Amino acid sequence: MILDDNLVVSLKQYLQLLKQDIVIVFSKDDSENSEKISEFINQVAQLSPKISIEEAKLKRTPSFAIKTKDQEKPKIFFAGIPLGHEFESFVLALLQVSGHEPKVSPEVKAQILNIDKDLEFETYASLTCTNCPDVVQALNIMSVINPRISHTMVEGGMNKQEVEDLNIMAVPTVYLNGEEWSDGRMTVEEIVNKISDNEVVNKVSKEMQKKFDVLIIGGGPAAATSAIYTARKGLRVGLVADRFGGQPLETLGIENITGTPYIEGEPFMKNIYAHMNQYPVHVAEGFKVENVEKNQEDDFEVTLDSEDVLTSESVIVATGAKWKKINIPGEIELKNKGVAYCPHCDGPLYKGKDVAVIGGGNSGVEAAIDLAGTSKHVTVLEYGSELMADKVLQDKLRSLDNVTIITSANTKEIHGTNKVQSFTYIDRTTDKEITIDIDGIFIQIGLVPNTQWLENTVELNEGKEIKVDHMNQTTIAGMFAAGDCTDVAYKQIVIAMGAGATAGLAAFDYLITK
Ligand SMILES: Cc1cc2nc3c(=O)[nH]c(=O)nc-3n(C[C@H](O)[C@H](O)[C@H](O)COP(=O)(O)OP(=O)(O)OC[C@H]3O[C@@H](n4cnc5c(N)ncnc54)[C@H](O)[C@@H]3O)c2cc1C
Repeated sequence: MILDDNLVVSLKQYLQLLKQDIVIVFSKDDSENSEKISEFINQVAQLSPKISIEEAKLKRTPSFAIKTKDQEKPKIFFAGIPLGHEFESFVLALLQVSGHEPKVSPEVKAQILNIDKDLEFETYASLTCTNCPDVVQALNIMSVINPRISHTMVEGGMNKQEVEDLNIMAVPTVYLNGEEWSDGRMTVEEIVNKISDNEVVNKVSKEMQKKFDVLIIGGGPAAATSAIYTARKGLRVGLVADRFGGQPLETLGIENITGTPYIEGEPFMKNIYAHMNQYPVHVAEGFKVENVEKNQEDDFEVTLDSEDVLTSESVIVATGAKWKKINIPGEIELKNKGVAYCPHCDGPLYKGKDVAVIGGGNSGVEAAIDLAGTSKHVTVLEYGSELMADKVLQDKLRSLDNVTIITSANTKEIHGTNKVQSFTYIDRTTDKEITIDIDGIFIQIGLVPNTQWLENTVELNEGKEIKVDHMNQTTIAGMFAAGDCTDVAYKQIVIAMGAGATAGLAAFDYLITK
């Protein structure tokens, strides 16, 4: 059985919410994949009297689509079995096609309805990719709202040949009307903006335009904790994030949250979001902060990429960090064509292939262990003379027989025309140049703080981290900072949360003594 008992129980409950009868249109052949899809949709159909299956020839075979009985043509297609992280996309698609209103603001809905051209989207996704469901769900919503839009989720594992022919080596990758259109995580607002030739459609709500006591910039563990602490003090709190979730969304398993022996990154941040929303925190998601400065009234003016300017008496910056680039020839040119940064997202695309991981710290070694489970062979390169990862991770890595560890390696160049073919490194002990053939290369050399937009505003250290004191106060009165964007010694979730709490309490102290 494709759906296990737990999924059957939860799906059965969701299917009770169907408003209209649903037809699953199945395009089948005699392949093994077709057999698996058939088993999946039949299992689903048995769980609700409102679901029936019809056979028809679709653009892709095998694949299936979802429509209502009255709908002439389906708009949402699945080329693969939407399990793993895509299960939620499947459930939402069923509910939305059956008549449940998708969760988008009235402004964005109007923009989607205004699109007056035929748009056929195809998203290449993997079932372990935590960034993919956002894109898949956003494009499904658009297909439900506007009949001129259609969307297919193409599952990489089941469509290996197509993915290889198109040289797709990172997910999500979106094609629009047959042309590569975008890669990486995108919100529905960002997609609509991109379609509308970058004309900004997303503006903050009226509530966000009123002055805050505390405005928090960021959407990771630090920002959310600051929001909870300040809202509990009765302050008027706002939070702006380009996307809520932060780095934990790139993390498969988290095992060092005190009291929680194991949790995956996505449910962890969902719990945090739900917890934060128990308090009156005004959230603007899908906006990037571009500038912050004080005005003559000693308030902060925070400018967003939507050109909205928010005001607040105090500010907490918790913008975290992002993957560091290695800055060698071939890295940018071959990004998503074999050069990758997120092993959990893109690892499945390298099943049975030879890959390299650059970086022997915790992230690099974790990535190598993860990749070794599916790839043919993993070469780990470390610049120093020893791996830097925790001993427990090193021991695990050394126990794997499809891993080679190379230390004192200075990676020099990544080669390839349409996709990565090899890379060259210099052996620092002999100065010899060595080239290794490879299908993919994962850069895991650490993170860089998201503080570029603050360079002329507040004091940063050499690593571009915001300098803070023991109260998480920056060099500007009333501006606090917390988490991975600061010069705190270690970058971990509980540390970011602790700093978020300190910054929140310090902002409260600042406001009552101002
Ligand atoms: C692969 C991986 C695995 C990890 N595993 C673990 C682990 O097992 N245990 C552990 O404790 N830690 C782990 N970490 C580290 C941990 O995730 C971070 O220390 C923690 O998330 C830092 O939280 P933060 O809130 O400071 O920043 P982040 O989580 O980076 O969040 C920053 C937020 O700010 C937003 N943002 C950035 N710039 C702007 C802007 N200009 N405007 C608006 N919003 C903005 C971002 O979208 C994001 O939402 C891992 C990290 C990675 C990458």
